Amino acid sequence: MMTINMTDTVDTLVIGAGVIGLAIARRMAVAGREVVVLEAEDAIGTGISSRNSEVIHAGIHYVEGSLRARLCVAGKEALYDYLQSHGVPFRGCGKLVVATAEDEVPSLDAIEAKAKANGVDDLTRLDPDQVSDIEPAVKCAGALLSPSTGIFDSHAYMLALQGEAEDHGAAIAFSSPFEGGVITGDGITVRVGGAEPTEIRCRHFINAAGLGAQSVATGIEGFPAEHIPPLYYAKGNYFILTGKSPFERMIYPVPGPVGLGVHSSVDMGGQCKFGPDVEWIDAPDYDVDPNRAGKFYEAIRRYWPDLPDGALQPGYVGVRPKLAPEGQPPADFTVRGPETHGIAGMVHLFGIDSPGLTSSLAIADHAAGLLGLG
Ligand SMILES: Cc1cc2nc3c(=O)[nH]c(=O)nc-3n(C[C@H](O)[C@H](O)[C@H](O)COP(=O)(O)OP(=O)(O)OC[C@H]3O[C@@H](n4cnc5c(N)ncnc54)[C@H](O)[C@@H]3O)c2cc1C
Repeated sequence: MMTINMTDTVDTLVIGAGVIGLAIARRMAVAGREVVVLEAEDAIGTGISSRNSEVIHAGIHYVEGSLRARLCVAGKEALYDYLQSHGVPFRGCGKLVVATAEDEVPSLDAIEAKAKANGVDDLTRLDPDQVSDIEPAVKCAGALLSPSTGIFDSHAYMLALQGEAEDHGAAIAFSSPFEGGVITGDGITVRVGGAEPTEIRCRHFINAAGLGAQSVATGIEGFPAEHIPPLYYAKGNYFILTGKSPFERMIYPVPGPVGLGVHSSVDMGGQCKFGPDVEWIDAPDYDVDPNRAGKFYEAIRRYWPDLPDGALQPGYVGVRPKLAPEGQPPADFTVRGPETHGIAGMVHLFGIDSPGLTSSLAIADHAAGLLGLG
């Protein structure tokens, strides 16, 4: 266990050992920087990074030119290379985006055009017979096949990032919550809580605290409040399929305005799950309401009519850190560096929901670039 001394001054301090903090720590350490990560919990990846779909997204659905679109596409390429070269389990199984009724077929054209604009030009259009040939359980009016969508073992990935960061000298202080900070002339002084509260100074400060990012930013004396976006919570519930998956690929309906619809994915252990849905909540809670099953059966049967009664069991919940409330268009990833808030050496990452896992390596490059450490 790492011990922090009152007198320590480090080059780079990262708050949060989720996938984003770990990717940044690894990026900085490999570049030869001295890195310390403060993590409130006693292990890596216990936050948003452990409650998601573990999908490597192709980058199809995001607004052209947005950070989400750019970092997803760049991150996907980097992630596949990383997983391959570091022996992290993954499967490029592909996904189908299905029009569940004739009136959704024109949406497939729009999705294909959006994907192309984002640099994703490997989609193939399939008619219902072609879909039946490769996914006999799926009924639809047409589909797009995305071959570069995949799944991976996100925990093994985070362990690889942690291992590589530590091999290059980074240290992760567990059970060490950030409790406040002060901007001084030559860096930032941070108060660390936990069993042995202490202080640490740093020249570069990166806030990758996920659902806690706004609270961390608010805790820094002198940090301008107008650069801290509001935080809203959108819960995503999953239901697990009992029995064998009827699909080879992931199956997504044409997406709605906020989430990607009740889609199916299979994890690396072969378990088929459905979700996440979108449930706006006032504060994080991680209980699946079994009464939501009815809506899942209804949504899934639009593309898998033979889903048997009683086949779904409540699974788990992930909570998205949203920056726009229900009813408003989703906000982009919001990564604020010195060029926006004017404080040298400081980067805050807000609203890193999906596709944050896929984008993680590209987000790390982006954060380093904002600090001039590219
Ligand atoms: C339902 C759902 C499904 C998703 N599916 C996908 C997907 O299939 N593919 C994909 O690419 N992305 C997906 N995502 C997005 C992805 O999971 C997130 O973007 C990513 O995990 C965010 O990682 P993070 O490191 O920012 O946050 P976290 O993993 O939450 O890490 C933040 C860390 O900061 C720590 N922390 C907080 N406050 C403090 C403090 N004061 N002091 C010290 N430490 C602190 C926390 O303990 C935590 O460990 C999904 C997200 C959700 C919610």
